[in-house]
Amino acid sequence: MRTSQPRTIYLSEYRVPAFLVDHVDLRFELFENGARVHSTLTVRRNPEYPGVAEHLELDGDSLKLESVSLDGIELGADRYQDQGDKLVVQAVPDKFGLNVVTWIEPQNNTRLEGLYKSSGMFCTQCEAEGFRCITFFPDRPDVMARFRTRVEADREKYPVLLSNGNDVDRGELADGRHFVTWEDPFPKPCYLFALVAGDLVLKQDTFTTCSGRDIDLRIYVEARNAAKCDHAMDSLKRSMRWDEEVYGREYDLDIFMIVAVDDFNMGAMENKGLNIFNSSCVLASPETAADTAFQRIEAIVAHEYFHNWSGNRVTCRDWFQLSLKEGFTVFRDAGFSADMGSPTVKRIEDATLMRTAQFAEDAGPMSHPVRPSSYMEISNFYTLTIYEKGAEVVRMIHTLLGPELFRKGSDLYFERHDGQAVTTDDFVKAMEDASGRDLGQFRLWYEQAGTPLLTVRDDFDSEAGIYRLTIEQAIPDSPGQTSKNPQHIPFALGLLGADGTDLPLRLFADENDAPSERVLELTAARHEFEFHGLSERPVPSLVRGFSAPVRVDYPWTREQLIFLMNHDGDGFNRWDAGQRLAVDVIQALIRGDEEGVDERLVEAYRSLLSDPSLDQALVAKMLQLPSEAYLVELADSADAQAIHGARTRVLDCLAQALRGELLECYRRNGDDGSYQLTPEAIAARSLRNTALSWLLHIGDREACGLAQTQFQDAGNMTDRMGALRALVNSCFVTEREAALNDFYQCWQDDPQVVEQWFSVQAASLQAGTLNHIRELLAHPAFDWKNPNKVRSVIGVFAGQNLAQFHQADGSGYIFLAEQVCRLDDSNPQIAARLVSPLTRWRKFAEPYGGKMKQALASVRDKEGLSKDVFEIVHKSLK
Ligand code: ZN
Repeated sequence: MRTSQPRTIYLSEYRVPAFLVDHVDLRFELFENGARVHSTLTVRRNPEYPGVAEHLELDGDSLKLESVSLDGIELGADRYQDQGDKLVVQAVPDKFGLNVVTWIEPQNNTRLEGLYKSSGMFCTQCEAEGFRCITFFPDRPDVMARFRTRVEADREKYPVLLSNGNDVDRGELADGRHFVTWEDPFPKPCYLFALVAGDLVLKQDTFTTCSGRDIDLRIYVEARNAAKCDHAMDSLKRSMRWDEEVYGREYDLDIFMIVAVDDFNMGAMENKGLNIFNSSCVLASPETAADTAFQRIEAIVAHEYFHNWSGNRVTCRDWFQLSLKEGFTVFRDAGFSADMGSPTVKRIEDATLMRTAQFAEDAGPMSHPVRPSSYMEISNFYTLTIYEKGAEVVRMIHTLLGPELFRKGSDLYFERHDGQAVTTDDFVKAMEDASGRDLGQFRLWYEQAGTPLLTVRDDFDSEAGIYRLTIEQAIPDSPGQTSKNPQHIPFALGLLGADGTDLPLRLFADENDAPSERVLELTAARHEFEFHGLSERPVPSLVRGFSAPVRVDYPWTREQLIFLMNHDGDGFNRWDAGQRLAVDVIQALIRGDEEGVDERLVEAYRSLLSDPSLDQALVAKMLQLPSEAYLVELADSADAQAIHGARTRVLDCLAQALRGELLECYRRNGDDGSYQLTPEAIAARSLRNTALSWLLHIGDREACGLAQTQFQDAGNMTDRMGALRALVNSCFVTEREAALNDFYQCWQDDPQVVEQWFSVQAASLQAGTLNHIRELLAHPAFDWKNPNKVRSVIGVFAGQNLAQFHQADGSGYIFLAEQVCRLDDSNPQIAARLVSPLTRWRKFAEPYGGKMKQALASVRDKEGLSKDVFEIVHKSLK
């Protein structure tokens, strides 16, 4: 057991730093058995600091201190204290130079924070608090300094030496070593520092900015990945253009670099001028990466690039403000992805993530506001709430202000705060000042956790021709927060007439030219709206485009939902109606209220499948049944096996009834041999693979043959993986095993593909998967030190395989607890992320909930538990 509680950090305790650092001069001597870091800081007292600080305090973590000098004079041990996590230098002058030499061991760094080694190269990860693992420093984002970095290493092993900014000097050293010096002209917090040393090949391109400057674009990868950079490079150029056109943001350095590394805790990192990416988020070719990976890469490349303004030029004052950069940047990358593909499909994907995973987080033990007010370990707060809900909050500001005023607000924000470390409140203030709108109540979105529930009721007065809508909002209690105040919610509404068209929304009787869609602004606990001049009772289309991250309770009939599926003018709500219909049918089966699957659902899917005149990208999404995770989220007390069983029955029934349509859909959407990333081409691949998987789900022999042929002949990974997945989840044992073996033989040398091979097995519906998972952990390609491998086996199994993970005997939970404990010693960040499925124990019925809780308690009792896992486990057992 952990002997002491980790300390909780509170926003209310924020103080400006006592000392500022104007300049950082770093020199890295990189060796095989460690690295020596020489750091020279130009320090001065912060005039804004209230009171006097006699001592300078610097943060550190796992450092071996070699020497400390002040203004060139080495200090005796009586002048400073090395407290492990702090270096205290006593009685310092107002202005001085401080030189600190530390020794670190990157080759033994399995936490992947600070400086570490990944497939033979040196690389860094400093956000949030990794810089303190490199040298002693005031490791907080409101200390911004200019960095100059000299990297020295063996020339043959590490021909490429990189850091932030521009390379200003290079040369040869004794013993076959060399050095490169980098200078970053922009002051930055140390979490944006980066260094790379390795044997890498370079893919180069150029981009001419709106003011005519030529930027040198460089993607560095290991030689074997040289052919997998094109998509990232194209995405980068498109992002740069888009940010100029949509936000007026131009790139500011002469070089922009991306490096791919195999071992990385997260997706990617926006270090100034030197983004470091998880290989799986940058490398792609049609043969090795599926459509979803291509789209993810485009979005992440854009996201990291956009951070150059929203995050780097304007950064966060403290980590409570994390959503300032993340929420805004996710909003920006979502706009980019929408513009590059299908806006409706992008919106469906984002809303699905919100409603499935963020709502669950917001209703669980780790629920926190977009701007939290306390944390133990900041790494635990890179959450769906900070990122995705944070983006939804910015999106609501966009909806309330409209595109022009929003752009005015973002211009003002960047101009006013360029070079500063600021707060979410500064962001909202800029939006207010530019638009003249009062966002006072709106700020509650940043302060109050929990998902608002809107209860909507209506009635129609046929004599007066008035349709009345009442909307009540309630926000559930969450840890540390009760009796919340009503929030300011933009509620997009349409009303459909019997012919399926949008009716004018007249808020008063003689309103002329009333629009057919309105954004109602909810500010009170209860509102009543009247719509005039209606000759028939309309069908309401609520919260169009998911205009706010809220739950909606409205007593839709199945007839109304089918009507909306066919007619809603808002594509998003057409999809949403289909989801609600399917949820209603599945829930009725779970409750035992209905014997069989409602024929109307079958017919609704039949018309989707057989009408090629519909938007196929939308159809491809509408055909996806609500996920098991979403059904869990909607349940009061989830019976995992019952949910899986009911959903499977619906799938069976649909596939049996629509066999002919599915085969026809499969043929109609055949591969034409070209690989394009247009919404149409992506939709065609999605449709043919959905058809295939449904047919194999019911054991269709003919489809099994089709899958085998597709598996062999596929010209791209989307189709090859589609066929493999369908086979893996089918009853055709020999064909399944043959395909899995074949696939591994063919791709065993490509880690990104092997990860997909692991995932498809970890998500398998076959009974006995848990035993198979244990076998995968013993497979030669599995690597405990590589987060991607851990995620693709353990993460996928516990997070995406409801039926196999939630075994009534609790074996899935015990398995996960064991792996979490094992990982906690080597990589606490990954362990803390992996444990999260267990924290949802309150959501599950018996015997599941109780056994999940037991497994969680066994993690709590582990010897020497990390701060990361401690925080999650303790908060969820409270
Ligand atoms: Zn980000």
